[in-house]
Amino acid sequence: MWFGVVTLFPEMFDVTRVGGVFKRALEAELLTLELFNPRDYTLDKHHTVDGRPYGGGAGMVMMAQPLNAALDAAQVAAPCVCDVVLLSPQGQTLRQQYALSHCHDNGLILICGRYEGLDERFVQSRVDMELCIGDYVLSGGELPAMVVMDVVARHIPGFLGNSLSIIDESHLDDTLDYPHYTRPENSDGSVVPSVLLSGDHRKISSFRRQEALQRTFQRRPELLTRKVFTEQDRKLLQENFAKG
Ligand code: SAM
Repeated sequence: MWFGVVTLFPEMFDVTRVGGVFKRALEAELLTLELFNPRDYTLDKHHTVDGRPYGGGAGMVMMAQPLNAALDAAQVAAPCVCDVVLLSPQGQTLRQQYALSHCHDNGLILICGRYEGLDERFVQSRVDMELCIGDYVLSGGELPAMVVMDVVARHIPGFLGNSLSIIDESHLDDTLDYPHYTRPENSDGSVVPSVLLSGDHRKISSFRRQEALQRTFQRRPELLTRKVFTEQDRKLLQENFAKG
């Protein structure tokens, strides 16, 4: 998959090449990342990318011309016609479902805002959708863009060494993940639940599902309101309630 990112701070994306699965996917050319700096597309000798807001007020606003030119360059470089997504605290909240629906796209263009934001005329004419990574305001769209790339990439076949890794994960089916344990069996007097050592795969699977449902109920009950329960889930939840 090809990611084109429009950013005033391309060096922030060096971190994607430092380590981990994202770096490996770039090296294996499963992912391609191209960066487009609006400052490289300015028309004045000072390379101006921002201006004071009409009507007054605090901060600066990213100008439309360098953004338009940088996006034009990204669209020319893209291997396909891609969605143009602006990272914005005013956008639709990023959910796992977004990654599931877009992991088979050939490309995606991400626009990173800075300062007070972007000239609205650029947003209205060039952006397909706005994505927000949480109800708080960051200083720029670069970290959110990396979050979007990471969550989408995790669903690309071949990105994770073990494709089963994403099957049980939190949020995939509106439940949270079950707890995990590894060696040693006894850690400072705290022992691994015995069922996990039993070798009985049916019991292990049922224990994990019950833990997942219970955690979701305790920590994020609102997730369960949109969930479609299987008969097995209903039984496990009833058992949980019976236990208190
Ligand atoms: N004035 C804007 C507002 O109140 O909606 C906030 C601008 S913020 C300081 C600068 C840039 O950071 C935004 O244009 C956006 O690209 C990015 N950003 C900040 N918080 C974000 C969030 N929660 N999700 C996605 N992008 C965010």
